[in-house]
Amino acid sequence: MTNPLRVLISADLEGVSGIVHVVETNPGGYDYERGRALMTAEVNAAVAGVLEAEPGADVSVADAHGTFRNLLPEELDRRVRLVRGKPRPLGMMAGLEAGVDAVLFIGYHARAGAGPGVLAHTISDAVLDVRLHGESVGEIGLNAALAGHFGVPVVLGSGDDAACAELGALVPDAVTVEVKRALGQAAAETLHPQEARDLIRRSAAEAIRRRDQVPPVSTSGPVETEIDLYGPYTVDLATLVPGVSRAPGGRTVTFTGRDILEAYRLIQLVVQLGQIKPG
Ligand SMILES: [Zn+2]
Repeated sequence: MTNPLRVLISADLEGVSGIVHVVETNPGGYDYERGRALMTAEVNAAVAGVLEAEPGADVSVADAHGTFRNLLPEELDRRVRLVRGKPRPLGMMAGLEAGVDAVLFIGYHARAGAGPGVLAHTISDAVLDVRLHGESVGEIGLNAALAGHFGVPVVLGSGDDAACAELGALVPDAVTVEVKRALGQAAAETLHPQEARDLIRRSAAEAIRRRDQVPPVSTSGPVETEIDLYGPYTVDLATLVPGVSRAPGGRTVTFTGRDILEAYRLIQLVVQLGQIKPG
């Protein structure tokens, strides 16, 4: 017997069809309950596509938005395992460490400053930009690089046109699924959710069938990292962490990760510090 194909679905919410406003993505906000149901349904569509192409696949889903507690566990396809809650070392990509053959991004969004992109940002509003070796990256770039560290390709991404363009530039062979067209940070022309799910299911099956044609993003050597932060106080806090220094200009911190894994963990920590107000 051969080992089953192992698939990780990393699920965000801003890039789900129908979603355009931040309150729809925040617990307690108007229509958040609808947003998480739409998110869960798109993940289920991806699961259906994966299992259509590879019936014996072992599928893990990482809830990767905000609190990491958005997907409705009881509504999720029962053939998957759900990774829920935070913090966790691999953040949005939890599950990679267990060994994975292919990654799918569902409900993803463009990086901070890449507008027009629906709810375009990089991890949190505390962050103005993240650069690896001087190149701006968003969650798509960071998470694809982390997958690459484990030798895993990102075979599919769904979201608005800006998110699809971002993944397409980085991984030209990945399948992209455009479920809405950005008209601004909080406006889009969106597909009907059912239409989006059909498209995601078909595309996920296609992506799994042609996974061998998609190379992992290569990440070798130490990773020079810069983060531009919204709050100078966050810069003060971040520079308390050994190895993190302040760059000229007052809004930027820099550090060199031994590899992308170390850089990724430190980026998560620095972003988390952005939640702390002056005491
Ligand atoms: Zn999100």
